Amino acid sequence: MTLEAAFRYIDDRSEEIVERLVRLCRQPSVSAQNLGLEECARLVQTMMEEVGLQAEILPLTEGPPVVLGRYERPGAQKTLVFYNHYDVQPPEPLELWESDPWAAEIRDGRVYARGAADNKANIASRLSVVDALLKTQGELPCNLIWVVEGEEETGSPHFKEFIERYGSRVRGQGAIWEFGGLDYGDVPAVTLGLKGMLYVELSVKTLGRDAHSANAAIAENPAWRLIRALSTIQDGLGNITVEGWYDDVRPFTPEELEALEREPLDEEQLRRDLGISQFLRGLTGLELKKALAGAPTANIAGLWSGYTGKGHKTVLPAEAHAKMDFRLVPDQDPKKLAQLLREHLEKHGFGDVELKIQAETPAARTPITDPIVRVAAETAREVFGKGPNIHVSSAGSGPLYYFTNALKLPTVAIGCNHPYSNTHAPNENQRIDVLIQGTKWIAAVVERFASA
Ligand SMILES: [Zn+2]
Repeated sequence: MTLEAAFRYIDDRSEEIVERLVRLCRQPSVSAQNLGLEECARLVQTMMEEVGLQAEILPLTEGPPVVLGRYERPGAQKTLVFYNHYDVQPPEPLELWESDPWAAEIRDGRVYARGAADNKANIASRLSVVDALLKTQGELPCNLIWVVEGEEETGSPHFKEFIERYGSRVRGQGAIWEFGGLDYGDVPAVTLGLKGMLYVELSVKTLGRDAHSANAAIAENPAWRLIRALSTIQDGLGNITVEGWYDDVRPFTPEELEALEREPLDEEQLRRDLGISQFLRGLTGLELKKALAGAPTANIAGLWSGYTGKGHKTVLPAEAHAKMDFRLVPDQDPKKLAQLLREHLEKHGFGDVELKIQAETPAARTPITDPIVRVAAETAREVFGKGPNIHVSSAGSGPLYYFTNALKLPTVAIGCNHPYSNTHAPNENQRIDVLIQGTKWIAAVVERFASA
């Protein structure tokens, strides 16, 4: 079977593919603001049915529903699974947008809208893959299951429940994650993993009420206390000093290290982008890439106490707070780490620092030797004529673990995204040429996956 007809169909119908994206973008769906989620779920269901999939809406106890699409090919041995999310980030600040974030205006070969790149382009693209293959071949070459959730942008708080309740319906031999596409220089990229996350809030209270700061002579300041507690967690060079924190860290395999060596990283550009003169500990080369892809982190995301307004106020605050995000790597268990952190604080005399867990997701990484990785890489080369870059792990996080570990689905992140798409920022946009090329890539992956 040849993909020539499907590729020609995709080129001929490129306007229809863009229309799918525009239609999705014009339906607001902000999970953080509970805006338009049910409507967007229904729209995704309708659009799945329009291209020939079965689709249903699966409710959860709380939060927006998950849309489950399905195609069954009689007698097929293999099932490919897609993961996407129909929710988007809030569009604010609105004044920085050059056009209405829900208008999906087309300018300079791009669609400008909140959610255009993250993640609606990949939904439009995959709908178009199904359409193209069904129209040119009469059937898909394998079974397909498609999970589209509505809370990814708020940390997928009910995705675990989805897996527990409906996971038996999401069985397959491989999966394609929501994001991916081109790196800088327009080289296609295949990403194999995501870091996990433990998000906590630490609070300490040393006084019954805010007091005149003259009392600092006789009463303990909670901000100092919290700072001393925090300073026992990390050594200032990025090393986490909680006993046992690194015990379960899975080392890179020789194949992963080789891929990291080959992975391009423009250090100069990254430094400029971050506005720093040098990386932590003077990291460079392979060590820098290893840190991004595989180092656990202990980051203070927010820190507050007392008076932070204009002018001065001499106050001895009653309480102090910090928010911390710990990025995790494969085999680290967030529950165990939260316990280690609690014990660490107690052992250092900070048992009064209250620890609240706000989110926890384990890390995930698909083995680089898995057949789905080869399928994604070969087809990338064929469609784009170069690459791909293999990213062992993104430095970011997401609920990939539930696919790779709970459902045992080897998963790659590939799609039609491109750099400079301003995801999560004003003027988010999707390049139309990458939308079309990325659609051919996924079509080729479906075909190759089925026959491999
Ligand atoms: Zn996002």
